[in-house]
Amino acid sequence: MSALSELHKQIAVCQRCELAKYRTNAVPGEGPEDAEIMFIGEAPGWHEDQQGRPFVGPAGKFLDELLATINLKREQVFIANVIKDRPPQNRDPLPAEILACRPWLEQQIELIRPRMIVTLGRYSMAMYFPGKSISKIHGTAQKRDGVIYYAMYHPAAALHQQSLRRSIEEDMLKIPSLLAEARNIVESEPPPQQLNMFEV
Ligand code: SF4
Repeated sequence: MSALSELHKQIAVCQRCELAKYRTNAVPGEGPEDAEIMFIGEAPGWHEDQQGRPFVGPAGKFLDELLATINLKREQVFIANVIKDRPPQNRDPLPAEILACRPWLEQQIELIRPRMIVTLGRYSMAMYFPGKSISKIHGTAQKRDGVIYYAMYHPAAALHQQSLRRSIEEDMLKIPSLLAEARNIVESEPPPQQLNMFEV
């Protein structure tokens, strides 16, 4: 069994926070273990909790459509959430729950080592762009330690709001050139102090 599968087995029985009491299935995430891009959403919803898979409800279908616009299939990317168990009634995750669950996500990233991390929505954005507002920074990227971090709206928020929908569609289209940039970073591997924040 791979280290990632082993990690996901541990997540499935995790009791670190109250959300363990409510889950039908934990939703660790899924995708290739060597994925170049990792999408990180907020938390599982009802469909995800039932199936133990991320982004399988209407927001997931929309994410699939967005990926198709840049010729990607979900099987080519890793999809995870900040929180691995569904909060009751889909309420917002609590700070203590985010703190308790974060090490799982960090271990996933360590094992997958993606070239690009795309945050979907404000909870995952807050981890990598602390203190920022999603309405201001969506569609912008930061290079840090050889990885490109890119902020987008959550597909669930954008699904029914025309203006957000346009934004998320436009932001998705910037991913291929950012990924090309990320591949260049790995190939040229400049020293970390030369990696500066940039906007697209
Ligand atoms: S939400 Fe995360 S920290 Fe809480 S029980 Fe589930 S896996 Fe563990």
